[in-house]
Amino acid sequence: MAGSCGAGQGTARRGQAAPGVSSARDGAEGQESQASGLPEYIKIVEVGPRDGLQNEKVMVPTDTKIELINRLSKTGLPAIEVTSFVSSKWVPQMADHKEVMRGIERHPGVQYHVLTPNLKGFHSAIAAGATEVSVFGAASESFSKMNINCSIEESIEKFEEVAKSARNMNIPVRGYVSCALGCPYEGDITPTKVAEVSKRLYSMGCYEISLGDTIGVGTPGSMKRMLEAVMKEVPLSALAVHCHDTYGQALANILTAIQMGVAVVDSSVAGLGGCPYAKGATGNVATEDVIYMLNGLGINTGVNLFTVMEAGNFICTALNKKTNSKVAQASFNTGAIKLLT
Ligand SMILES: [Zn+2]
Repeated sequence: MAGSCGAGQGTARRGQAAPGVSSARDGAEGQESQASGLPEYIKIVEVGPRDGLQNEKVMVPTDTKIELINRLSKTGLPAIEVTSFVSSKWVPQMADHKEVMRGIERHPGVQYHVLTPNLKGFHSAIAAGATEVSVFGAASESFSKMNINCSIEESIEKFEEVAKSARNMNIPVRGYVSCALGCPYEGDITPTKVAEVSKRLYSMGCYEISLGDTIGVGTPGSMKRMLEAVMKEVPLSALAVHCHDTYGQALANILTAIQMGVAVVDSSVAGLGGCPYAKGATGNVATEDVIYMLNGLGINTGVNLFTVMEAGNFICTALNKKTNSKVAQASFNTGAIKLLT
């Protein structure tokens, strides 16, 4: 499918900063020259409103979700995953998906993604105004059965139906591969298995494959081995990484991926989320921390770090919790926020 980030557009997307947003003032080290050999532009896909909030134990009011998404829309982020059209029996936190879709203000230049596990979810999403959808598969057979209640093969058959309908309606489809660096039930996952599932998703028309370290057990070593295998089957320009920070490896893993040429990174404002499979574990890598690192490398994201921190502060206050972003903690606690503005 001809998606907005389809193969062939290269990894260095020059000049794609969101309109009206300057990145020059975004970081304490914003004047650093770009480290050699790295992509000039990294696209950040913000997953906090879906992947993050889905794992919050307290039910988040719909208005709070809408306000968070509206704030994130003004930061320069090019893509925001807003909700999931799964059954509310599976994921009660996402039961208000229609209201969220209808309630948000859409900004030009921002892609709003929603998860759709099957054709029914896809049609509900489109009826609610979705213009881009995601399907989520797994590289682990056990995780697939536990998480989406079917085998990898069965899940791919469902995704093919979604991809076919999406193609007919000119709707771009993003594909996720969960457990790309490890599974809570099976342990290690072989890179060839990840490559095989990624290839299937890419072949059915997913314009981008997001490789998820769902439980955050990966290291730069396992990230490198996994990407080497996947890059043999799927063009580099169609790959994204999605890292959780359970073992504190997320930034190192992301840096490894971008050194290999990956130019799309998923992250979650304030590091929202958790991991239901590892008690006490922290969630997704924080968007603020990723942007701070990329600013330091002189890589353009088009995102204003300060406004992302403000959005993070809003949701943490609403949820009465402490941010998981190290950058936000340091900035708000020490007054270093002045450096970032
Ligand atoms: Zn995730």
